[in-house]
Amino acid sequence: MTETGHAHGHDRGSEHGHEHGHPNGPEIEQAWLDLVATARRSAADGLVVGTSGNVSVRVGDLVLVTPSGVPYDRLTPADTVAVDLDGRQVTGRLRPTSELPMHLEVYRNSTAGAVVHTHAVHATAVSTLVPELPLIHYMAADFGGPVRVAPYAMYGTDALAGHMVRALAGRTGCLLQNHGTVTYADTLDKAYDRTAQLEWMCRLWLTATSVPGRTPTLLSRGQVRDVEEQLRGYGQRS
Ligand SMILES: [Zn+2]
Repeated sequence: MTETGHAHGHDRGSEHGHEHGHPNGPEIEQAWLDLVATARRSAADGLVVGTSGNVSVRVGDLVLVTPSGVPYDRLTPADTVAVDLDGRQVTGRLRPTSELPMHLEVYRNSTAGAVVHTHAVHATAVSTLVPELPLIHYMAADFGGPVRVAPYAMYGTDALAGHMVRALAGRTGCLLQNHGTVTYADTLDKAYDRTAQLEWMCRLWLTATSVPGRTPTLLSRGQVRDVEEQLRGYGQRS
């Protein structure tokens, strides 16, 4: 459960996100660089196509968030977009992502330091098939149990944000029906890692269930709870 093994880590400043209070300029600049790096990585790793996902990071009482409709490779420090927890824009001219209501709902309802939203293909496929991802792997423990699917509502709406918050109860990630993924964590790196793990677990389930005439074994809730305890013991869970 460690952060090792990233082929291209962007670890600098990733601990900034949960120090609440009034952030200073350098803190925001660094957080923006980290956010852009994470957004670019989500596209490079194939979790996002074009500008179809979005990333945010909390810096004190501000939320930095990717802007709407701008390719990540064009984002510069001058494009920094920051809003307060009510969604009022305090920095930048570009409009925040249309999925801002989802990001803000996560911060209002958790201690999240960062939120990642993607349309990753296997995870989105699973969102059309089941109300929650069956316990195909013990990594479900990192999400606090079976990952739920939030019912469909149009993107960018408060209704979708509401469905998402309910699906996230006691969890660090969820699927959005016919839409994609949402994960959060203390740091951008960890939130990104969770998204990659969720996509991987969905791919695993799709692979196992696609073998004709066979049904995959699943783990029990108890078996996954045991892993949750174990992870907590290592102090790595966020
Ligand atoms: Zn979306």
